[in-house]
Amino acid sequence: MANLCVAGSHSINGVSALHSEILKDTVFNDFYTITPDKFKNVTNGIAFRRWICQANPELTKFITELIGDSFITKSDELLKLRDFKDDRQVLETLQKIKYNNKLRFAETVKKRNGVELNPDSIFDVQVKRLHEYKRQLMNILHVMYLYNQLKDNPNMDMVPRTFIFGAKAAAGYRRAKLTIKLINAVADKVNHDEDIKGKLKVVFIEDYRVSNAEIIFAAADVSEQISTASKEASGTGNMKFMLNGALTLGTMDGANVEIADLVGPDNIYSFGASSNWIIELYEQKARDPKLGYQSEIYYHRPDVKPLVDFLLDPALTRYGDAEALKALWTDITGKDWFMSLLDVESYISARDRAIHDYGDKPFWARKMLVNTARCGFFSSDRTIAQYNKDIWRLK
Ligand SMILES: *Cc1c(COP(=O)(O)O)cnc(C)c1O
Repeated sequence: MANLCVAGSHSINGVSALHSEILKDTVFNDFYTITPDKFKNVTNGIAFRRWICQANPELTKFITELIGDSFITKSDELLKLRDFKDDRQVLETLQKIKYNNKLRFAETVKKRNGVELNPDSIFDVQVKRLHEYKRQLMNILHVMYLYNQLKDNPNMDMVPRTFIFGAKAAAGYRRAKLTIKLINAVADKVNHDEDIKGKLKVVFIEDYRVSNAEIIFAAADVSEQISTASKEASGTGNMKFMLNGALTLGTMDGANVEIADLVGPDNIYSFGASSNWIIELYEQKARDPKLGYQSEIYYHRPDVKPLVDFLLDPALTRYGDAEALKALWTDITGKDWFMSLLDVESYISARDRAIHDYGDKPFWARKMLVNTARCGFFSSDRTIAQYNKDIWRLK
């Protein structure tokens, strides 16, 4: 089907700079040699009127007070916010607004899930379709690991952490549904355990959709964008988080690469194997299906084995479906097609860096401001204008 599409189309777009290159270099390399001019890039964007004006009225009002309201239709105006990056008053107000949005979200969660969230904890959020390449499993494995660390050492000094998941699985996608079950099993266990003194909470938001997404993005501190590099064509959730002052914890995939370029390395938490390296690994696997690095990592890195083995822990299987959990364990220690084990250690260390920085309020607030200020590029107004200039050519 994709080949027919390329043959019949005058323009082909990978929807982010990285993926437009991947199309030319790998997926459609033959077509590219014949008709190079068809291959274009227009990076995706998001509707600012929804994802800031409607989703975050308090932030919209504050930005308007600082730089006027022209950013609503001329998104690059947000760059003017950079003038305030050392203004303590402004940074404090940004944090106050984030806090209020966290309270608003906590009220929703209380109603929907019956779980009490601590607005002073870090809100670490992964909301998107449930898919193996998006690696919700890698996220929840680390949450289980943290929980077990706290169980062993309840007095461990730790910034309280709230892990928020939201996702829908396609109707026939069994593995995705099992992952949702796992997240809910962990949430049940963690949220009812008095020993850990509220230092950890896990919530799964049902019916993830645009209306509740608006409230979630405004309340997020950390944006989980942890796809196996080369698999996420662009992502747009990453842009909604950035606009609302959440910091990206992500692989160098899709539009995350462009976010990293825009904000600079001090204002993003990047980790993991590069897309080139992962594409090379898939080619090696195609040549030699038995090729595996998983057992090497599983058996020989001291932190990885216990992390994965929690899937088999009776403390968890009592809450979940033991057989399903065993299936997830077999997959991750066997094929691990989406390479969670390859990236899990660098994921954990990037996450640790983020939690460490979060403890320094003004330092973190400055990064929030830089993210919002640099987000103008991701307005869908820019995307549409570029489609028109390069592809549609309407008058
Ligand atoms: C933005 C959005 C998505 C896309 O999220 P990604 O993280 O880019 O995959 C999916 N569903 C809803 C409801 C959204 O608002």
